[in-house]
Amino acid sequence: MNRPECDNNKLYNPEFSKHGYIQVYTGNGKGKTTASLGLAMRALGRGWKVLIVMFTKGGNDYGELISFSQLSPDLKDKVKIIQAGLDRIVYSQNINETDKKIIEQGWQSAKSAIKNDEYQLIILDEANIAIDLKCIQLDDMIQTLKNKPEDMEIVLTGRNAKQEIIEIADLVSEINPIKHYWDKGIKARKGIEF
Ligand code: ATP
Ligand code: MG
Repeated sequence: MNRPECDNNKLYNPEFSKHGYIQVYTGNGKGKTTASLGLAMRALGRGWKVLIVMFTKGGNDYGELISFSQLSPDLKDKVKIIQAGLDRIVYSQNINETDKKIIEQGWQSAKSAIKNDEYQLIILDEANIAIDLKCIQLDDMIQTLKNKPEDMEIVLTGRNAKQEIIEIADLVSEINPIKHYWDKGIKARKGIEF
């Protein structure tokens, strides 16, 4: 699916806009998911079609879901959000079969969207966590990314990105927590963390 044309200017080379890359936002610092959401807004503004798959995140208690549901009709038509998780926090000690099933279903939807070239930007939020939890097989992810349509941009977020993912990515940003109020006991806040 070709990307919509953008206006030209001195710092912008339209040739570079034709190719899609694999980006990874990882590390223990804050800003991985929000960086990907910022990118979604930027791409939508350029008329791109965007898919966001939220692995391990269910329920409706996310500020970004409320924002996306209230976009103008033009923008809303261009963005699809799939929630691939239950409304609870999962980690290796508490994950159950239902969690796994919903994450796996989300991955199948993401895979077919990649294969069918349906979007210009696909964000796989917390995909690194889903791989860590073995709900997405690393080999399957690698093969899917390697065979992505040339002009599709794919972003994976989440802590503990696997070395194999880092190797095939074109851009990897590791967010390092120099300071985090979490260490002072400040838990997730509405409007800031969700
Ligand atoms: P954001 O969504 O704000 O961009 P992020 O995607 O970089 O953040 P995640 O790694 O996905 O952050 O973590 C999500 C949430 O997990 C944090 O907002 C925080 O409330 C919570 N959390 C759990 N453990 C920690 C920790 N050790 N340090 C920081 N945050 C933690
Ligand atoms: Mg996150």
